[in-house]
Amino acid sequence: MKLAILPGDGIGPEIVAQAVKVLNALKLNISMTEAPIGGAGYEAAGDPLPDATLELAKDSDAVLLGAVGDWKYDKLERHLRPERGLLRIRKELNLFANLRPALLYPELANASTLKPEVVSGLDLMIIRELTGDIYFGHPRGISTLGNGEREGINTMRYNESEIRRIGRVAFDIAMKRNKKVCSVDKANVLETTELWRQVMIELSAEYPEVELSHMYVDNAAMQLIRAPKQFDVMVTGNIFGDILSDEASMLTGSIGMLPSASLDANNKGMYEPSHGSAPDIAGKDIANPLATILSVAMMLRHTFNDEVNALSVENAVKTALAQGYRTADIVTDGCKKVGCSAMGDAVVAALN
Ligand code: NAD
Repeated sequence: MKLAILPGDGIGPEIVAQAVKVLNALKLNISMTEAPIGGAGYEAAGDPLPDATLELAKDSDAVLLGAVGDWKYDKLERHLRPERGLLRIRKELNLFANLRPALLYPELANASTLKPEVVSGLDLMIIRELTGDIYFGHPRGISTLGNGEREGINTMRYNESEIRRIGRVAFDIAMKRNKKVCSVDKANVLETTELWRQVMIELSAEYPEVELSHMYVDNAAMQLIRAPKQFDVMVTGNIFGDILSDEASMLTGSIGMLPSASLDANNKGMYEPSHGSAPDIAGKDIANPLATILSVAMMLRHTFNDEVNALSVENAVKTALAQGYRTADIVTDGCKKVGCSAMGDAVVAALN
C-alpha cells in the first residue's frame, strides 16, 4: 500500500504528524512518501501543485492531506495561490465524492454551541460533489465592460452523469445507514439544480428502500441548526456542500473534529480534515489533530478496506476523549487541556 503524505501549510504539518504517529502505531505495511502542496508547493517549486507531487499522488493508493493556504499568499496571481493546488489535485485525481460525517461524541455534547438535547446522538453524513459546479464552470473571470465597469463571472454547471454518479454514492451509503437521503438544491431559482432534482428523482427509482426528500439550501442551512438529527444522508453540489458542511462542523463542537474523504470511482481517495490551515494558530502546538486522525480511519475503511483498524482508530479517539483529553477548541470545565502533539500521544496510548 502506498500513501502520499501532503502536509501543506499552517497547522497542516503539525496535525499530519499526529496522524502519521497513529498510522505508525498500527504497524501496517504502508509505504509513506511526503511531498509539498499549496503554499509549501509554491515555495518549493513555484507551483501550488508541483508536477512531482501530482505524480506521487497519482502513483499512490491514497493521499493524506493536512491543509493549504495562508493569507501571505493572497496577493499572488490566482493560479499560483495555495487553494488552486487543492482544487487541481481533486480534479486531476477525479475525486468527485466528498464524504463528511458529522458525528457528535457524547463527551463533546457540551462543547457544541447548540443545546445538548439538539445535538446529542447526532450522526449525519454530508455528501458533497467535488469536481463540478460553480467552482469549475466556464466562462469565469473578471473582465472590463465597454463602459469601463468591471464584471465578475462564474458559471454554475452540472451535467446529468455528474449528478447521477454523486447521487449513486449517496443512495449506496444510505443503504448502509438509516436509508434516508435528503437532496439539497435551489431548484426554485437555479435551472442547474432543477436538473439536479430531476436526476435524483429518476435515480431514486433504483433504490425503492431509500426515502428521498428534497430541501432548498436556505432551509437546509436553517434546519441544520434547528433540528440536525432529522437528517441521515444529505447530498448536494459543490458550493452548497462547502458551506453546509462547515456549518455542520459546529454541531460537533469544533471544526477540528471533522474528517473527510474524497473518493474517485474506484475508492482511491484523498483524506483530509474539513478545516483549513488555521494560520492564526499555526506553529503553536494548540491545533486539534483529531479530524486528521479520524481521516486516517476513513482511509483505512474506504480505500484499504480495513474496517478493523478503522474502528480501532475511532475507538482510540473516543477513549482519549473519555479520559478527558481536550485541545483548546473543545475544552470544557474539568477536562485535561493538551496541545496538538500530546493529543496525538493520547490517541496512540489509547490504541496501544
Ligand atoms: P480555517 O478552517 O483554517 O480556520 C477557521 C477557524 O477555525 C480559525 O479560527 C482556526 O483557528 C480554527 N481551526 C481550524 N482548524 C482547527 C483545528 N484543527 N484546531 C483548532 N482550531 C481550528 O479557515 P479560514 O481561517 O477561513 O482559512 C484559513 C486558510 O485556510 C485560508 O488560506 C483558506 O483558504 C484555507 N482553507 C484551506 C482549506 C483546505 O486546505 N482544505 C479549507 C478551508 C480553508
